[in-house]
Amino acid sequence: MDMLHPDALVGAPKGAPHYVSQGQECALFEQAWRCQLPLLIKGPTGCGKTRFVEHMAARLGRPLITVSCHDDLSAADLVGRHLIGQGSTVWVDGPLARAVREGAICYLDEVVEARKDTTVVMHPLADDRRVLPIERTGELLQAPAEFMLVISYNPGYQNLLKTLKPSTRQRFVSLTFDYPQPLIERDIVCSEGGVSPAMAEGLVRLAGALRRVTDHDLEETASTRLLVMAGRLMAAGVDTESACRAAVVDALTDDLETAAALMEIVRGVMAQP
Ligand code: ADP
Repeated sequence: MDMLHPDALVGAPKGAPHYVSQGQECALFEQAWRCQLPLLIKGPTGCGKTRFVEHMAARLGRPLITVSCHDDLSAADLVGRHLIGQGSTVWVDGPLARAVREGAICYLDEVVEARKDTTVVMHPLADDRRVLPIERTGELLQAPAEFMLVISYNPGYQNLLKTLKPSTRQRFVSLTFDYPQPLIERDIVCSEGGVSPAMAEGLVRLAGALRRVTDHDLEETASTRLLVMAGRLMAAGVDTESACRAAVVDALTDDLETAAALMEIVRGVMAQP
């Protein structure tokens, strides 16, 4: 059987978050869900990871619980805690416990940002056991077949301390995302930004030029998200230069000289017919 045969795919229901596919990622997600395997999505910020997960959750008819991880996020934040009320304590599930109970898809965005103790609760959920031990209450939640753990991170960040341990990453099926191919990115900017195909094409050309020069100098380069934002401003009537400055250039750098150099590229590229 061809694992990624498109016929295996369920269609997107009406109202599902719009997602332009870049390849076979939708089929892979669906198969991983059916096989009860957790998924790791790697890719730069703003390339469509979150939108993809939102789209797939709607497509598979599962609720989605998203957690944006940060450096203070602990295992207790994910699992839950006792809260003291009027004279009594009540247990309140955290987002991960809620997702397991509901058979939801739980998406931990930028998981490497979270505290190290979060791996203790992720590991037994991400292997064959598929359980969430809740130490404080003594419960052992068995994840239903519909539950799926999805995590993402951006391997581009130059922080060696913030990476996934092999024992974590080897529990997950991996998907590597990058900025979409130009024609696909044009369609995304067109539909998401509400601009004409010609305007979208200009913004995608700009991204190509910025990505070439900024790859090494800046922490991040022009993402699809920034192009969509520039497109929205342009569609609302903001002139091209101001839109690109506000949505793209100033998002990439605080340095005035670098911004001036990037604006030269904007003028050069966006002036082209
Ligand atoms: P990430 O989670 O990788 O940081 P997002 O999923 O939030 O990025 O994407 C940022 C924005 O870019 C989305 O809100 C959407 O407007 C647009 N976008 C990116 N990729 C796609 C895609 N493949 N289809 C539709 N919209 C996309």
